[in-house]
Amino acid sequence: MLIFRFQCPECGFGDREVGHLTDEGEIHCIVCLEEQGRRIRLRCWEEPEQARLRLAAEAA
Ligand SMILES: [Zn+2]
Repeated sequence: MLIFRFQCPECGFGDREVGHLTDEGEIHCIVCLEEQGRRIRLRCWEEPEQARLRLAAEAA
């Protein structure tokens, strides 16, 4: 299972608000887009636990 976290560097909108990525192909902040007309690229990363497990699997 792959868990993505994301947050907008401009307004702070992120996965805590929606719980998941709404559109995997267009990773921009919908708040900044709708309210300001700006296309702010969301900062995305995997859950630390998932990344650590993957690193352990690759090292084995
Ligand atoms: Zn934003």
